[in-house]
Amino acid sequence: MTHATGTLYIVSAPSGAGKTSLVKALIDQLDNLRVSVSHTTRAMRQGEIDGVNYHFTSRDQFLAQVTQGDFLEHAEVFGNLYGTSQSTVEKTLAQGNDLILEIDWQGAQQVRRAMPDSRSIFILPPSRATLRERLTNRGQDEESVIEGRMALAVDEISHYVEYDYLVINDDFNTALDDLKSILRCARLSVAHQEELHKGLLTALLS
Ligand code: 5GP
Repeated sequence: MTHATGTLYIVSAPSGAGKTSLVKALIDQLDNLRVSVSHTTRAMRQGEIDGVNYHFTSRDQFLAQVTQGDFLEHAEVFGNLYGTSQSTVEKTLAQGNDLILEIDWQGAQQVRRAMPDSRSIFILPPSRATLRERLTNRGQDEESVIEGRMALAVDEISHYVEYDYLVINDDFNTALDDLKSILRCARLSVAHQEELHKGLLTALLS
């Protein structure tokens, strides 16, 4: 079956903007869309599953993979290392699936350089108070960790201008709709449709 090469999407947001829930809903509702499972040296949180939320790994193993060139991008975020598997990205796109990378601004900069056709989306919380509330409600981290994450959030937000799209997550369904529109629009581009409908175009033009 004819399929167009998938599009790579970078999705970044400050922690607490609701990025993971939005991406999960998007995956559930759109066909041919996958999310990349990152490698991380961070400790597993309650409820997380190895190989589903992240590939949890040691610092030594992670650094060995960096040396081997296994990662499309990697970065240190809040004291832990995170990276995206290059081979998984290549394979998923070649199969005709779009792929979402949930990564920070440092990783986003590396991916833009390596894959200029990628599209990047930044998700914002509707207010500073909501952001703090969302970080606090998580209830799994110490107060000092929450303060650290607030500082990191402001730093992350300062990079919004480097992205192609900006989505505000005030109402969840509106934000989800915005994300769907971004993906649908890219799928309707001439470059994408041309690859997908070669037969039709040939027949119409004969
Ligand atoms: P958390 O540990 O709360 O799941 O994620 C913390 C931060 O790490 C988030 O901003 C998330 O986007 C970022 N992150 C997760 N995976 C990756 C990755 O593979 N690469 C990069 N650069 N950042 C990542």
